[in-house]
Amino acid sequence: MTDYKNLIDGEMVDNGEWLEVLNPANEQVVGRVPACGKDELDRAVAAARRAFKEWKKTSAEKRQKVVQGIAAAIKENADELYRLLTTEQGKPHAQAQQEIYGAAGLAAAQSTLTLDDVVNQDDDTRLSRTRRVPVGVVGGIVPWNFPVMMAIQKIVPALVAGCTIVLKPSPFTPLTTLRIAELIKDVVPAGTVNIITGEDSLGPMITEHPDIDKITFTGSTATGKKIMEGASGDLKRITLELGGNDASIVLPDADVEKVAEQLFWSSFSNAGQVCIAAKRVYIHKDIYDDLSKAIAEYAKTVVVGDGSQQGTGVGPIQNKKQYERVLELIQDAKDNGYKFLTGGDKDPSGTGYYVPITILDNPPEDARIVAEEQFGPVMPLLKFDSVDEVIERANNSEYGLAGAVWTKDTDRGVEIAEQLETGTVWINEFMHLSPFAPFGGHKQSGFGAEYGLDGLKEFTYPQVITVKRDAAV
Ligand code: NAD
Repeated sequence: MTDYKNLIDGEMVDNGEWLEVLNPANEQVVGRVPACGKDELDRAVAAARRAFKEWKKTSAEKRQKVVQGIAAAIKENADELYRLLTTEQGKPHAQAQQEIYGAAGLAAAQSTLTLDDVVNQDDDTRLSRTRRVPVGVVGGIVPWNFPVMMAIQKIVPALVAGCTIVLKPSPFTPLTTLRIAELIKDVVPAGTVNIITGEDSLGPMITEHPDIDKITFTGSTATGKKIMEGASGDLKRITLELGGNDASIVLPDADVEKVAEQLFWSSFSNAGQVCIAAKRVYIHKDIYDDLSKAIAEYAKTVVVGDGSQQGTGVGPIQNKKQYERVLELIQDAKDNGYKFLTGGDKDPSGTGYYVPITILDNPPEDARIVAEEQFGPVMPLLKFDSVDEVIERANNSEYGLAGAVWTKDTDRGVEIAEQLETGTVWINEFMHLSPFAPFGGHKQSGFGAEYGLDGLKEFTYPQVITVKRDAAV
C-alpha cells in the first residue's frame, strides 16, 4: 500500500490525515490519500490565485507548451499509470490503457486550440474587437468512472485559456490522478495546477469558496443541481457534465451479425459506467428476435472478472454504493417478472463488486431499468414498430446527453438524429468524442460544454474593446 500526496503550490504535501482507497476487484486497500478540508483548500486556492497573476499574462504559445509537457509526462509513464488505474477503478487493462493514452492525446490535441480576437467593426468611425480573457481560478470536481480523462479535460482547457485550477478527484479514484500530479509537478508552474483530495464534503467547500471564479464539474445530475445552487452565491461561472439515459436506435436494415458486438460494447464498456453508454437499446421489430439473440450469444463469450487478469472484458462495479444500486435495479426487474436474456440468475455475493452481464428482453417503457440511468452492466433491449414512435420514446427522458442510430441508410440516420433531443448523436458508432467538437448535454444532462473552442470559451469572459476613430477629443 502506498501513500499518495496532494499537489499544492508546486509541492507534494499531506496533512497527516488519510483516506483509504479500495480495489473494487477484491475490496483490499491499495493506497491512502490526504483527507483535506477547508485549511488545505484555502492554501490551494491562495496558491492558484497567486499563480494566476503571471499565468494569465503568459503567452498562448508558452501555455500550450506546458500542456504538451503534461501530455508527454502521461504518455511516457503510461504503463505504470494504466496498471494503477485498473487497481483503483476496476476497468480491464486494455480499457485503462485507452483512458491513459486518450488523456495524453486529448491534452496534446487541445493544446493546439486558441481563441483569436474577433473584429466586430472596423471602419472610419470605430474599431471594435472581442478578446477572450481567462475567468481566473477554476474549481474542478470529477467522478470515478474515468478519473484520469475527466481530470485532464478540466486541467488542460483551464491552462490553455490562462486560468489556474484546484482539482478534486473522486474519493473513490484519486490515486492515478495524484501520481500524475507528481509527474507534472515540475512541468507546470507552481500554483497553476493544484490537486487536493477529501471526502464528498470537500465538494461544497469548493463550490462555495469566495476566491474561486468558476466550477467545472462532471458527475451525477443530483450533485450538479447542488453545485448550481452552491455556485449561485457569488454567481460563479459553471460547466456541468451530468448523467444520461442514452438511446440507441437500430433500424431494420442494420446487419444483425455486424452490429451485435458493437451494440454490446456500447453498453458494457467500463462495466456500463459511462455517461454516454447506450442505456436503452431500441431494435426494430423485424430484426428484434435475431439481434437480441446475437447480442446474448456474444455476451456469453465475454468474461466478467478482475481487470488486471488477461482475458477480462468486464470488470467490477467501481464502488459499493453503485454496486448496490445496480443490484437493486436487477432485483426490481426480477420482482416485476421481466424476462432476462442473460444475468439475473446468479448470486453476485463474494469478494469484489461483480455484477453478471445482464440483458433484459423488452421490459416495459416505465420499468425502472428503462426510465433511470443504470450506470452498470445491465442492458434493456426494447422493441419498436415505427420511427416516429421510437423518436418519441427516445426523447421521453429528463436527460439529453447522447444517442445513436444504426442503419445502412446514413441520410435517414441523420434525419432521425436531427430529431433527437441530445447534445451528441452518432450514426453507426458510439462514444466517439473529438477534442475539437463541443460535448455537452441538453436538458438535465448538463449546462455548457467541454471540448473544442466552445469548451475553451467556458474558461473565459468576452471583453469588447472599442476605439472611436472619429472622436473629437
Ligand atoms: P457524484 O455526483 O456522486 O460525484 C462526482 C464528484 O462530485 C465527486 O468528486 C464527489 O466527491 C463530488 N461531490 C459529491 N457531492 C458533492 C457536492 N454536494 N458538491 C460538490 N461536489 C460533490 O457522481 P459519481 O457517482 O462520481 O459519477 C457518476 C455520475 O456521473 C453518473 O450520473 C454519470 O452519468 C455522471 N457522469 C457524467 C459524465 C458527462 O460527461 N456527462 C461523465 C462521467 C460521469
